Amino acid sequence: MKKVDAKELKENSTKKAKLALEDYKKFALKGNVMDLAIGMVMGSAFTAIVNSIVESLISPLIGALTSNVDLSDLSFTIKGVSFGYGAVLNSIISFLIISIVLFIVVKALTKANKKQEIKEDVTTKECPYCCSTIPIKATRCPNCTSQLETEEK
Ligand SMILES: [Zn+2]
Repeated sequence: MKKVDAKELKENSTKKAKLALEDYKKFALKGNVMDLAIGMVMGSAFTAIVNSIVESLISPLIGALTSNVDLSDLSFTIKGVSFGYGAVLNSIISFLIISIVLFIVVKALTKANKKQEIKEDVTTKECPYCCSTIPIKATRCPNCTSQLETEEK
């Protein structure tokens, strides 16, 4: 009897493990988890690019315009403690660039989405003879039975 119990127990646990695995798969693949993960990775990569642009291009540019002031070297000292506000300025510039680029990207994406929605929505047309709304693929009006010219787009 003991042997059978152990076998059953093992089968039950493998079944449970399989169910848990399926649940996890549903969680990981369904919803927006994958989108989120891709977004996170893309975001951190993008941040690295922007940071290097600010550090190696924009900061030197500001230095050149302001006669060799390096932003990250800027600091003031109070009672022997130095406050490196230049690094903060660098971060603010990075943030501004990121937000501007994100604004442009989001705007472009919303525009593209809207265009797609409009394209998908067009499934009907107006019959030129009775002015009723009919399916776009109709070659004969279901309301007034007029023969319709099929428009090639
Ligand atoms: Zn009609």
